[in-house]
Amino acid sequence: MPTAYLGLGSNLGDRRGSLEAALAALRAHPAVRVMAVSALMETAPVGGPPGQGPYLNGAAAIETDLEPAALLAELKRIERALGRREGPRWGPRPIDLDILLYDSLVLNTPDLTLPHPRLRERRFVLEPLAAIAPDARDPVTGLTVRELVAQLGA
Ligand code: ATP
Ligand code: CA
Ligand code: CA
Repeated sequence: MPTAYLGLGSNLGDRRGSLEAALAALRAHPAVRVMAVSALMETAPVGGPPGQGPYLNGAAAIETDLEPAALLAELKRIERALGRREGPRWGPRPIDLDILLYDSLVLNTPDLTLPHPRLRERRFVLEPLAAIAPDARDPVTGLTVRELVAQLGA
């Protein structure tokens, strides 16, 4: 079964509750197995409008029979169910679920880019991911998540 890594974030409302509800929805999905979840870490918002609150960020490893587009649709469905509404780019949101890696797939479609296009530059994504999957490999650079974290400091 394919393995995917998800980035989880929230900076609005009951952040921990929203992240836990998203994980519960994933666990309840018949085509998804949640294999590992990182600790949640508080991070400062990056980009977007000024004045928004800090994020809680985490990462999850899943096995899934859903192909990438179907997985993204499912993540968007869960986001909507948890109150995510259209807002400014990188604005405050109760839940954000991104596909970071999906096996070693490289994909560039209008709706979905794999690996996640901003994975390599984001400490708030790479550190939780490194906690559960340090040896997962970015198929574009060939670097492991551990190596990508090390590169951030450079
Ligand atoms: P960022 O992409 O910088 O993390 P964001 O998560 O705030 O920003 P969203 O508004 O949640 O951005 O998503 C915008 C669109 O990005 C989504 O509608 C989705 O179609 C697209 N997208 C492309 N690649 C991915 C991916 N790997 N994971 C999730 N969404 C993606
Ligand atoms: Ca995001
Ligand atoms: Ca997103």
